[in-house]
Amino acid sequence: MSAQSPDIAVHPLVIIGSGFSSFCLVAHLLETHAVKATDITIIGPHPFGYGAAYSATHGDYRLNVRAQIMRIFSGQPDDFLNWAATELEDNEARNPQGAFYRRSDFARYLSYLSKRIEGFDALNFMDMQVASLAQHKQCWQLNLTNGDSLMADQLVLATGNPPPRWPCEVSASLSTERAVENPWSGKWLENIKTSDKIVFIGGGLTAMDGLYSLANKGHEGKIEIVMPFAVLPPKQTDWKIEPPVKWPDNIASASQFLKFFSNTLGSRNWTAPAWQSRFEALRINLNAVWQGLDDTEKKRLLRYMGHWWQLARFRSAPQNFEAAQAMMNKGQLQLIKGRVSGLKKQEAKLLVQLQDGSTLSADKVVNCTGPAGCPLILKLLKAGIIAPDFSQRSARIASDFKVLDGQKKPYDNLYALGAMTASSLGDVIGAGTIAKQAESLAASLAPLFR
Ligand SMILES: Cc1cc2nc3c(=O)[nH]c(=O)nc-3n(C[C@H](O)[C@H](O)[C@H](O)COP(=O)(O)OP(=O)(O)OC[C@H]3O[C@@H](n4cnc5c(N)ncnc54)[C@H](O)[C@@H]3O)c2cc1C
Repeated sequence: MSAQSPDIAVHPLVIIGSGFSSFCLVAHLLETHAVKATDITIIGPHPFGYGAAYSATHGDYRLNVRAQIMRIFSGQPDDFLNWAATELEDNEARNPQGAFYRRSDFARYLSYLSKRIEGFDALNFMDMQVASLAQHKQCWQLNLTNGDSLMADQLVLATGNPPPRWPCEVSASLSTERAVENPWSGKWLENIKTSDKIVFIGGGLTAMDGLYSLANKGHEGKIEIVMPFAVLPPKQTDWKIEPPVKWPDNIASASQFLKFFSNTLGSRNWTAPAWQSRFEALRINLNAVWQGLDDTEKKRLLRYMGHWWQLARFRSAPQNFEAAQAMMNKGQLQLIKGRVSGLKKQEAKLLVQLQDGSTLSADKVVNCTGPAGCPLILKLLKAGIIAPDFSQRSARIASDFKVLDGQKKPYDNLYALGAMTASSLGDVIGAGTIAKQAESLAASLAPLFR
């Protein structure tokens, strides 16, 4: 570490965020490239690697993919599976479709890796939040929420999935036990009475986690899910990993994309293993095609298929899917097409208002609408330090992970990684894709530290 100014030291490499993306990058830098651990500083909450997805402590929250997909090193596809075979007793994980372990157990595996890979104990880990950034003499000055500052020579943003925020007006007087804004930890399940009437806002994998957990608790009350299209995600099958589909080089519009995509996919039966295998083979090289579309075509494509994509791509663990089906079959669970516009108290109940003017009454309301905007990124966008992507809410990132400045020129020493890169770089949300991205970024960064 060298001194930039009398009071602020320069750290060779700083990663903002301590979730799975950050962990994978560090694992590759240490294990594959033997970068010196003391050159790496991570800023974010403990425990390292857990982030939004794997800090869930609730025992019913499961991985939504089978164990082999949760790989960090492409050359060791069965590493988590092998570890689980000796370390875990979890009969419920096993399904004909594969083993779907608890997310909290995947977190334990990450902790095990951090002991197995040499150097993790020598990293500079700062359990802090970065409040703002500024460029200073070719370096980045990071200002922490506790008032301290530090300088980074190379900086990686890996701020991931910011906690969900209500998608509607919510009256201030609601208790957080009854109106659950962020259900990701699963703690809200401790405060549910068996007879409670529950409304979920949003029907993706967070809602599916909730349904499975409620079924396991023997929940008897009615459950309603309000969602823009009244369809739950399909169940994962034992789809096979097929060779990647080669996309044409000349796809420049949403309609060309859709035509090639649906012709190659053929069937519309997303519950069939053959469909899921083909879909996954299409996804392997999809990000380059997405990056080749201009902003207008990206927006158009999302309008056509964004919602469908979320369901097709975030398929449900079989346990969760079956719990939801059983609830629907007995009339306990109802899907309601619509969007929520407000939430307030009405006597002893909560009143959920929908955009079409109708209302629902509930004992508990759970927000399952997914990640919100990242406060740090929004601040950088507002200050013109980074360029917005087509959504105007996230950073514009080049294919080599460099973040673009306000004039859309790539910074030499500012990179982005993981879930936060999805709207620029494509379908970079799941652990497998993030791990590949981390492998590639580690290979570009490592030579700077020799
Ligand atoms: C609830 C949930 C369940 C999921 N389940 C699965 C699954 O089963 N399988 C799968 O493949 N994928 C799953 N995912 C997808 C997930 O995106 C990836 O697997 C991966 O965990 C994303 O990691 P990340 O590091 O990019 O983001 P995150 O996990 O969100 O980590 C980002 C980290 O950055 C920190 N941070 C943010 N801003 C700052 C700041 N200003 N200063 C310091 N630190 C900051 C955050 O506190 C957090 O620790 C799930 C996602 C969610 C949200």
